[in-house]
Amino acid sequence: MAKRLVGKVALVTGASSGIGEATAIALAEEGARVAVTARRRDRLDQLAVQLTALGAEPLVLEADLLDEAEAQRVVRDTEAHFGRLDVLVNNAGVMYLEPVAEADLGRWRQMLELNVLSLIASTQAALAGMTARGDGHIVNISSTAGRVANPNAAAYSATKFGVVAFSEALRREVYKHGIRVSVIEPGVVETELRDHIGHAATKDALNAWADSMRQLQSRDVAEAIAFCVTRPPHVNINEILMRPTDQE
Ligand code: NDP
Repeated sequence: MAKRLVGKVALVTGASSGIGEATAIALAEEGARVAVTARRRDRLDQLAVQLTALGAEPLVLEADLLDEAEAQRVVRDTEAHFGRLDVLVNNAGVMYLEPVAEADLGRWRQMLELNVLSLIASTQAALAGMTARGDGHIVNISSTAGRVANPNAAAYSATKFGVVAFSEALRREVYKHGIRVSVIEPGVVETELRDHIGHAATKDALNAWADSMRQLQSRDVAEAIAFCVTRPPHVNINEILMRPTDQE
């Protein structure tokens, strides 16, 4: 089958593992040139070897996206290097789960800043170029936690409900410029995301729950993202909510 993203340039945030890594590969397989960003340079360099083999001419951008200036810088660097940015996948995120009464507000501040503010900042940076061309696609990664709020996930859900709300308002601001906005809401995906939960009881319970089911794989989500960005320009997939079959 013909590759559907030949001539396109994509930037994937949080590409050093999990969904972001799989998405960079999926978009490269469709012929896109791909910029990848995260903090772990070694992981990005390993990914770049795979992307090069796929012909994606990867650009590796090491960045801590907690700093919104960095979130904007990676967009500018991608545009400067490739001359354009067609697809921005705002995927970088963390999930710090703990009860509200015991929460470490410093960590929650970081989660709010990365999951929401950084995504807003990179989006803002991408709009000028996309508007000028009258074309572009922004894909934001939310979660089923952006649709259903569960105990111990109050702040994480606040970030992911926030991503859904931001995406819909953004779509209504930019559709007249030919810019598409899609939000992806996966259920449980087998990645490193849960490794960073600090609250032991919550982490153990979540891991046990995840282990009880056939979890989504990063590739499953990457294929949903690839589906969105390979539709013809007049089709905007606004939202994809996807769960493991075994998840309630
Ligand atoms: P991973 O932990 O595997 O990936 C998270 C990515 O975000 C990594 O590449 C990490 O890179 C990057 N990241 C984290 N902090 C920063 C930072 N400060 N600056 C730059 N990059 C950062 O988890 P997933 O692949 O699962 O998560 C990807 C997205 O999917 C997240 O937004 C998550 O909320 C969402 N999601 C995940 C689900 C799941 O069950 N796994 C379900 C629903 C949504 P590095 O550490 O190298 O900086």
